[in-house]
Amino acid sequence: MRRLSILGSTGSIGKQTLEVVRNAPDDFTVEALTCDSDIDTLYGQIKEFKPKLCSVVNEAKAAELSKRLSAEGFSTEVCTGKEGNITAATLDSTDTLVGAIVGFAGLEPVYHAVMNGKDIALANKETLVAGGDIIMPLIKEKGVAMLPIDSEHSAIWQCLKGEKRADLERIMITASGGPFRGMTRAQLENVTLGDALHHPTWNMGGKITIDSSTMMNKGLEIIEAHHLFGISVDNIDVVVHPQSVIHSMIKMKDGSVLAQLGRPSMILPIEVALYYPERGTAIVEEFDPFDAALSNLTFERCDTEVFRLVELAYEAGRRGGLVPTVMNAANESAVRAYLTGKIAFLGIERTVFETVEKMMPSIENTALTLETIGQADTDARAYADELINGMS
Ligand code: NDP
Ligand code: MG
Repeated sequence: MRRLSILGSTGSIGKQTLEVVRNAPDDFTVEALTCDSDIDTLYGQIKEFKPKLCSVVNEAKAAELSKRLSAEGFSTEVCTGKEGNITAATLDSTDTLVGAIVGFAGLEPVYHAVMNGKDIALANKETLVAGGDIIMPLIKEKGVAMLPIDSEHSAIWQCLKGEKRADLERIMITASGGPFRGMTRAQLENVTLGDALHHPTWNMGGKITIDSSTMMNKGLEIIEAHHLFGISVDNIDVVVHPQSVIHSMIKMKDGSVLAQLGRPSMILPIEVALYYPERGTAIVEEFDPFDAALSNLTFERCDTEVFRLVELAYEAGRRGGLVPTVMNAANESAVRAYLTGKIAFLGIERTVFETVEKMMPSIENTALTLETIGQADTDARAYADELINGMS
């Protein structure tokens, strides 16, 4: 039985994690649930799963929820602020943290959970992009498990079971290509927010949906794979595969290529992570190779001349240090600005490139700690926000 603290339980991954729990209540307990401000959804989850503790970043919302819960006789403790996420992540009775917060905010709770000996089931890729160099060695040192939830990384992880890491030659991360696959730069100038939010194969939270439209999601995933599987970014290829049936492939040193297949659903990778090293029972619709929608599998190269953030992510991954942190922070600021209509689609890319270029000299040779990473994140956001204000 796994005893879970689910951070970001009101989001897309959080809700699907609870779906896995709902399906097998004897296999899991829910110890803690957290969100940023969506207390209505959280309230429903508390009623159903009865965690010991919950946390809401927004203080006023936390107070409102606390009132509502005590009026109804619930004993669930309510925490708030950034610290609330850490309290939930390090709860004594929890053995596994599900990292389903979006963005850099996920790093600190994951760090503290590892320090406290918790296994980490991780969807929140920004944690590894910014903090992979400190989190992965800590995972080893503390002897806890890192259980990837991101579908590509779950696929790679499953393919690697029983293989020697030294025999792994290349990773081929698949990408749907997003809603703007095949477009030219000129066409990208005219896309709307509605177009960007309409992902062809996956239904996800707003930030990752925009990251998929710029292909930054794949850039972040290259760096995530580098940390998870200890492989250089130059040995990771992006393969555009619009059907999202093959979730990724690995090539071994003898030339053998292994792949994991399935319908585009996050339920399965969540289950794989939470049942590891066992297997759960099937919840998702059965995979039928004769289904017309699944049988035509195609592959293309990623056009990095059009989707330039992918190339920037390779470069950030090569340089390492604080560069991926800065790139990620600028992207988070830019995506937020784009989602609120402050900048145009290509303004995201411009913000990220200009922030990385500006900050590069000041971050080189800085030792990596949770503090220096946090400072680089704050500084990059401030610079990106200045650029954004200049654009809007
Ligand atoms: P959502 O936006 O749907 O959900 C985000 C969750 O995090 C919500 O519970 C939200 O609370 C909470 N949250 C937001 N900001 C903060 C903060 N600053 N501190 C604490 N909690 C916060 O995101 P997704 O579920 O789509 O994605 C979560 C992570 O998983 C991302 O890193 C994403 O890249 C990754 N991922 C997602 C996939 C998907 O299919 N959705 C696939 C693979 C990876 P509230 O509801 O109150 O705003
Ligand atoms: Mg993914």
